[in-house]
Amino acid sequence: MPHIRNAKIIATLGPASSTPEAIRGLFEAGADVFRLNFSHGEPREHAESTAVIRELEKNTGRPIGVLMDLQGPKLRIGAFRDGKIALAEGAPFRLDLSSEPGDATRASLPHPELFSALGANMDLLLDDGRIRLTIRERGEDFAETVVVTGGELSDHKGVNLPGVALPVRALTEKDARDLDFGLTLGVDWVALSFVQRPEDVAEVRERIAGRAALMSKIEKPAALERLDEIIALSDGIMVARGDLGVELAPEEVPGVQKRILRAARRAGKPVVIATQMLESMIWAPAPTRAEASDVATAVYDGADALMLSAESASGKHPRGAVEMMNRIIEKVEQDPLYRSLIMAEGQVPEETTADAITLAAKQVAKTIKARAIVSYTTSGSTAVRASRVRPEVPIVVLTPSLATARRLATVWGVHCVHTEDATDFDDMTAKAIATARDLGFAETGESIVTTAGVPFGTPGTTNVLRIAIV
Ligand code: PEP
Repeated sequence: MPHIRNAKIIATLGPASSTPEAIRGLFEAGADVFRLNFSHGEPREHAESTAVIRELEKNTGRPIGVLMDLQGPKLRIGAFRDGKIALAEGAPFRLDLSSEPGDATRASLPHPELFSALGANMDLLLDDGRIRLTIRERGEDFAETVVVTGGELSDHKGVNLPGVALPVRALTEKDARDLDFGLTLGVDWVALSFVQRPEDVAEVRERIAGRAALMSKIEKPAALERLDEIIALSDGIMVARGDLGVELAPEEVPGVQKRILRAARRAGKPVVIATQMLESMIWAPAPTRAEASDVATAVYDGADALMLSAESASGKHPRGAVEMMNRIIEKVEQDPLYRSLIMAEGQVPEETTADAITLAAKQVAKTIKARAIVSYTTSGSTAVRASRVRPEVPIVVLTPSLATARRLATVWGVHCVHTEDATDFDDMTAKAIATARDLGFAETGESIVTTAGVPFGTPGTTNVLRIAIV
């Protein structure tokens, strides 16, 4: 049986969820997609997790998505002679290219390309924004700064330059190696970190060459300036609130989240809300009510998927976190207010046959109180377009492509079945009825709305809508 929910759950794997039993537990609790975080773990561990997921998929017969998340060009300072230092407000502090271990007066910033982007009076954030420095002077290979917000600083902490478009590519050498490896594992989605410009997406898209779908992580404010172009080049979008929240003030993040979500939904690209959703469940068995409300808000906003990071990867309650997210989503989706809120902005169809048919399917299903829309697709694009208009009933997708079925695991309201394509109209209706009934979406006497492309078996031809009685 599928998880009968519109919004999907992505669970990050890590030390707390690395065994076959733990991964199965997350799946049973409601995870639709598993995220392999290539900022951590060895390639061998990611390969082992992927093998477990594929085995689980075989045993349950339900397509499961695997999302590889590339580390990206995360900037970091070097090490300190004593492992850490204390920075006092108002003290001078130098950043340079020297490979010498740092001390209370200086640290290494081993990113030569960065210094040209620095300028006087610019702020630098260290350690997820806990420490703030202002640049007083910069040269080719150094920056003299003054500490604005002090504190303890230890080895290899992250560096952010709020609001600055950095002269770095989104794909580092490590990412390129990881990407090639991930593609040999057959991952379904690749998440690209620190996207700043459409060119970053285009470059990686070319390298992936259709072997996986591409999700751009929006975590640099610079990406917001060219958001629509980035969305157009991506198959999906992630609102990566961890890094976004370092460079933006806390009060700016909610509005930016809604803006990205709305732009992605309008473009018909699946959108994932990520990071700190149930943060306190890293150590506590229940979330704060504010966290529950954050998860619910993303569901009311019509997000395609919600993601757990440390909660499922390294927390004390990985399965509990997925169960809780599942419960919150189910509760919201039963709320009478839910429909009006997710439809707050209607989606205008494009002038395509697929959009005409999928919008019609939604309306027909509503008019005749059909139980499901059953959609045949090869590439998955019809299913994504059908999801874009957020129909009242589940979208049951029949596809001959296992890769498509797995990719669609991130998409709102879609439930995939990997099966052969229809051969003719009778076969189309028979398979649709059998699947809707077997999966529990419709019972004898109830109706379903079927969409397909004729001639059958030709990708990109959705042009038929048929009503069938189970
Ligand atoms: C984020 O920053 O919110 C995010 C999802 O990316 P990462 O966990 O790789 O930092």
